Amino acid sequence: MVAIAVTTPHVLQILADEPSAPRPEEVLVRVQRAGICGSDLHIYHGSNPFARYPRIIGHEFAGVVEAVGSAVSGLAEGDRVVVDPVVSCGRCYACRAGRSNVCGKLEVFGVHRDGGFRSHVAVPAANAVKLPGNLPIEVAALAEPFSIAANVLTRTGITAEDSVLIYGAGTVGLTVLQVAKLHGARCIVADLDEARLERARDFGADLVINSSARSVPDVVAAEHDGLGPSLVIDGAGVPALLEEACRVASPAGRIGILGFSPAACNVSQQEIVKKELTLAGSRLNCRLLPQVVEWLQSGDLQPAAMVTQTFAADDAREAFDLIERDPGSTVKVHLAFS
Ligand code: MN
Repeated sequence: MVAIAVTTPHVLQILADEPSAPRPEEVLVRVQRAGICGSDLHIYHGSNPFARYPRIIGHEFAGVVEAVGSAVSGLAEGDRVVVDPVVSCGRCYACRAGRSNVCGKLEVFGVHRDGGFRSHVAVPAANAVKLPGNLPIEVAALAEPFSIAANVLTRTGITAEDSVLIYGAGTVGLTVLQVAKLHGARCIVADLDEARLERARDFGADLVINSSARSVPDVVAAEHDGLGPSLVIDGAGVPALLEEACRVASPAGRIGILGFSPAACNVSQQEIVKKELTLAGSRLNCRLLPQVVEWLQSGDLQPAAMVTQTFAADDAREAFDLIERDPGSTVKVHLAFS
């Protein structure tokens, strides 16, 4: 039984994990699969503004309920679950407004509190989403990354009428692509890396643009009979792209922003007003895991192809090394707990 902790920035330790009893409102989950996220690497490098150390990391995890708190109903020992890592107070303005993912007292597993890279973790029962029996656990562990895509497309809206420009063909871009295709939209993916663009094509992109070779604004100008893409998603998190997004978006267009850079960027007021653009920030997910689990089960997404490598949890250091050394060879790297 192990727990993977960043004890202080740049120090990853594999510790022994001892299960504790769940509190009345909690269930104890025996973790089976967990995904490594870019934000775990930020915590490792000391560049996540919310992380405190030492921290057991991990917010993408699924497993089996091993014990149930005394006040819990609707979940039982042996249930397979995926955990929504977003814990909210339920009382503040944001929660009352139905936006619990930006709760004033927000706590995210693996960031603000100890997370799921360990053999056992107690979680609020409300955060444990029961899985259909036939959903493989490694696919269930992808629910959180797909929820990022579900959330931004919920914030912006998405229909089959949309022509969507997605910046970045990493994990975020590829999940946004798949969820947008699920809604029947036309999808264009821009990235600097040819191998990543090849993957985007495999995941259903209608058009890919190598932005190191071609001008993205030039290529997308023809969308919607010359108006431009009606939806732009920044899955790359580069501040300057927001300016470009406002420039290329069609009238009545929407822009979804997922990056977390503190850097300022020059957005033209005129572009926003002239075209009545809607800019929507999107953080984590707002209770969308049940919806995502349905999608994962439907067979309409290609989740299994997202997992490029799986390491035993004891070998977490090797997994992190691979992502740092050869990021192009990875999309989602999983840890298997036994
Ligand atoms: Mn993640």
